[in-house]
This record gives sequence, structure tokens and C-alpha cells, in this order.
Amino acid sequence: MAEPRPPYHAGPECPGCHARDVVPIIYGYPSAHAVEAAQRGELLIGGWNSDSHNPRWSCRSCGRRFSVGDVSQTS
Ligand SMILES: [Zn+2]
Repeated sequence: MAEPRPPYHAGPECPGCHARDVVPIIYGYPSAHAVEAAQRGELLIGGWNSDSHNPRWSCRSCGRRFSVGDVSQTS
């Protein structure tokens, strides 16, 4: 399983502490790959409520969750 790692850390800067240590939050039913990534701390599983108003990013430095308008959305 030597697939290339997705660019999880290409996320925005945290508006709270300006750390670049942010991970995306995914909603809905997570794939097995997403669950593994979450266990590695590369993303956060936000749960079933896939509301577009939910925050899309979580800061691992200060724990803040936030949305950024200029993040390109693939969905
Ligand atoms: Zn932060």
C-alpha cells in the first residue's frame, strides 16, 4: 500500500494561532481510508451531519475549528 499521501497539510492557516497544523474535517460516512487517516491524526471525522455550514478545518495546535471561504471545495 505505497500510495502517495494526499496533501492533507496543504490546508489554510489557523485563524486562532496561525499554525499550519490544520487537518480537514470530513462529514458523512467515512471511507476506510479516511478512518485510517483519522487514526493517524491527518484528518478529523466530523460525523454524519454533512451540513455545509459545518467547519471544514480543525487546528491540531489549539483545537479551533473553522471554515475558510477561499478553500477550494471539491464537493
Ligand atoms: Zn490554531
